[in-house]
Amino acid sequence: MTNKELADIMYPNVNKTIEDYELIYPERNLKEGAVVSRFAPSPTGFVHMGSLLTAFIENKFPKDTEGVFYLRIEDTDQKRSVENGIQGIVNDLNNFNIEISEGVISEDKQIGNYGPYIQSERKEIYETFAKYLVENDLAYPCFCSPEELEEIREVQEKKKERIGYYGRFAVCRNISNEEKAKKIKNKEAYVLRIKSRGDFEKKVPVNDLVRGKIEFPQNDIDHILIKNDGIPVYHFAHVIDDHLMRTTHVLRGEEWMPSTPLHIELFNMFGFKIPKYAHLGLVMKIDEDGSRRKLSKRKDPEAAVSYYHEKGIPVEAVKLYLMTIANSNFESWYDANPGKTIDDFKLDFKKMSVSGSLYDLEKLLNISKNYISKLSALEVYQNLYNWAKEFDLDFMNLIEKYKDFTISVLNIEREQKKPRKDYASYSEIKKQVWYMYDELFFNEELNYEFDKINDINEINKILDIYVKKIDINDDKETWFNKIKETCNELGYASDMKEYKAAPENYKGNVADISNVIRVALTTKAMTPDLYEIMKLFGLKRIEQRFNKIKEN
Ligand code: GLU
Repeated sequence: MTNKELADIMYPNVNKTIEDYELIYPERNLKEGAVVSRFAPSPTGFVHMGSLLTAFIENKFPKDTEGVFYLRIEDTDQKRSVENGIQGIVNDLNNFNIEISEGVISEDKQIGNYGPYIQSERKEIYETFAKYLVENDLAYPCFCSPEELEEIREVQEKKKERIGYYGRFAVCRNISNEEKAKKIKNKEAYVLRIKSRGDFEKKVPVNDLVRGKIEFPQNDIDHILIKNDGIPVYHFAHVIDDHLMRTTHVLRGEEWMPSTPLHIELFNMFGFKIPKYAHLGLVMKIDEDGSRRKLSKRKDPEAAVSYYHEKGIPVEAVKLYLMTIANSNFESWYDANPGKTIDDFKLDFKKMSVSGSLYDLEKLLNISKNYISKLSALEVYQNLYNWAKEFDLDFMNLIEKYKDFTISVLNIEREQKKPRKDYASYSEIKKQVWYMYDELFFNEELNYEFDKINDINEINKILDIYVKKIDINDDKETWFNKIKETCNELGYASDMKEYKAAPENYKGNVADISNVIRVALTTKAMTPDLYEIMKLFGLKRIEQRFNKIKEN
């Protein structure tokens, strides 16, 4: 029996050829140097920060080169698929403004001429390519049961041989086509294996864009290409999909690096051009005990992309941070080019980390603080409003009711050359500004942070004297002079130098008096500029708050 006859028995429904598919999915008509890359997750419903980094890089190169970025869903591993798992991924990408220009764009919609972009919908294509391999003696059905495979393994372990289904251990290679056909007709279960031509003693170079040229032993293992249930494994689907979708650059996790010789062998069997590979290092984290480990969805809340959305950490800040992990020279470039954005920066594979990058949430939050500090008060208001709309409706209502006041609060020490960097996320703003709102202030169990001066009679005495002097229209200098006057009248030093020279002559100093006023108004020992806070309050509110102290 010829291989062709066997292939017809195995794939009776295949009525297209590889050539047909070459015509259906022609070379893309793009300009020289355009990158076609893809994000190819399993439909697990969420994107992990490590994968987001990959997607981000995969999206950036096509953007920089007028190429194409598409989303392909790799659902050949049923264990990793969850219901509505696609939409979660699309949402995460959308939230991070990673624009999908082709492929899967929602749970039930795909766009583009190179689809279907969901692997479970490509069975006919895989079978056509499988048939080609069988016809050309490059693949064969293997009927070995798990027990038989286990036996082979035991023999190999005992004889200290390399583990795997290869060479003389690949017993199904030697079954005649007649025998194979008979088994198939008898409905014996089988998988399709590659008939590897590789020689383990010889080397195959892998040109990796991040790591340079790396040599591996050639693949000689007859790996499974299609499982018993007709579903292809990653290796087979990768080669066919990335060829037919005309991917130029395969960016993927370094865990796929060792399989690359097999992929190269498959590309060569079909006579396809091998795409450029870039294997990206893992995103790591330092554990409490100091050891490095993979950032884990299970252990690290910050590993989930949704974390940033819930916390109200701006997408732009996360993107800036990802860029610093993607390319070691990004940060200095960004600092040296004020006014430029990520879009202006050209990513470079050579500047990517080979050993994996450390995920540093602290640093991300710092970038975020910086980023938010540079926004206008109105922008912060709008972003805060959008965040609160989803996560804190009471606060949303409050800032909607006092919109102008809130914008002024957010504008304290903002919109100036060196703005105050106090918010790393929108979710923490309320915790920092609550005292500005009477609704929140007079509803709380107040915990005044008085410091040196904490005798209630003394505090009231200070406030009584000071309140009479307040004129809300005072400029800052006059305002401060009145605090100094209060000091002088009560035996506190209004001049820090004089105080330091002879502290014994005073009850305290101007900082202590300021503390009393600040804490009386806000409960907090640390706040943004007190002068600006008082101007926003107005005299009546100031008096109310001073009186509240008396009630206590
Ligand atoms: N589905 C594979 C994964 O999630 C994709 C690897 C690739 O990008 O080729 O690891």
